[in-house]
Amino acid sequence: MPHELTLTDAELMRYSRQILLPSWDLDAQLRLKSSQVVILGAGGLGCPVSETLARAGVGHIHLIDDDLIEASNLQRQTLFTHEDIGKNKAKTACEALHSINPHVSLSYADQRLTMDNAAKLLLVEHMDTQQSEAPFLLLDCTDNFAAREILNQMSVRYRLPLLSASAIAMTGQLALYEPAKRSGCYHCVFGDSVATESGEDAADTRNCSNSGVLASTTTVMGNLQANAALQFLGLAHNPLAGELLIWDGGRMSQHKLRYRQDKQCPVCAAGV
Ligand SMILES: [Zn+2]
Repeated sequence: MPHELTLTDAELMRYSRQILLPSWDLDAQLRLKSSQVVILGAGGLGCPVSETLARAGVGHIHLIDDDLIEASNLQRQTLFTHEDIGKNKAKTACEALHSINPHVSLSYADQRLTMDNAAKLLLVEHMDTQQSEAPFLLLDCTDNFAAREILNQMSVRYRLPLLSASAIAMTGQLALYEPAKRSGCYHCVFGDSVATESGEDAADTRNCSNSGVLASTTTVMGNLQANAALQFLGLAHNPLAGELLIWDGGRMSQHKLRYRQDKQCPVCAAGV
C-alpha cells in the first residue's frame, strides 16, 4: 500500500457498507483515502460525480470552475440551491461537499482554465508523476471544448489518467484515457472537429445551454463517471480500457465502442 494511512472509527462506520462488498475491502478504502482527483467543471456532471466521490471517501477533491450559479442551472446541478444563485460554483460546491463529508479534504479554483495557468490550476505544477504512488485522476466535467482540449494536452504531457464525460439532451459518453499506456487520448477519438471554436461545425459545438439537457442525463453520466473513478482509484482497475461508453437515455440502453491510438494524433502520437 502506498501509504501509512489508517481509517478512524468514524470513517470505518461511514464507509462500512462499501467495505462490506466482496469486490471492495479495507485496502481499497485506504487506497481511495490516499487518492486525489482534480475535477474541471462544477456543473451538471461535476456536482454528481464530486458528491459521490466525496461520499465514497476519496481523500482529496479539487474543483475548478469560474462560473456563477444561475437559476437555469438548478434543474440539474445537484449541489446548489435557490439561495446560491450568483455565487461561484467551485466554492459553493466545496462548501456543500464539506457538509456532506467532513473527512474529505477539499480545495477549489474559481478561474477559467487556460494553457498558461493549466499546470497550476490542475495541481500538477510540482508533481513528480514518476515518484508519486498515490492514485491521481483528472476528471473532465466541462462542456467547453477549448478547456477540454487543454485538459487532454495536460493529461498527455504529464501522463496522467483522464476520465472524460459528456452529457447532452438524453445521451452521454464516457472514456478513461491512460496516456502512459499509449492507448489513445481524447483527441484520438474525437479529432479536430471538437476543437473548432469558430462554430464552423455546429453539430460539434452543442452544449447544454444551446441544445438542452434532461435533468437526469447529467446525474446518470456523473455517476457512471464516479463508478469508473472509484474502480480506478480504489482497485487500480480501468473498466473502460480502450472503450468509449455511449449511454442513450431515450432507449435506456448503453453500448461501448473500441478505439485505438491515432498514430497521426498531434497530441499523443508525436514525441511522447
Ligand atoms: Zn491522441
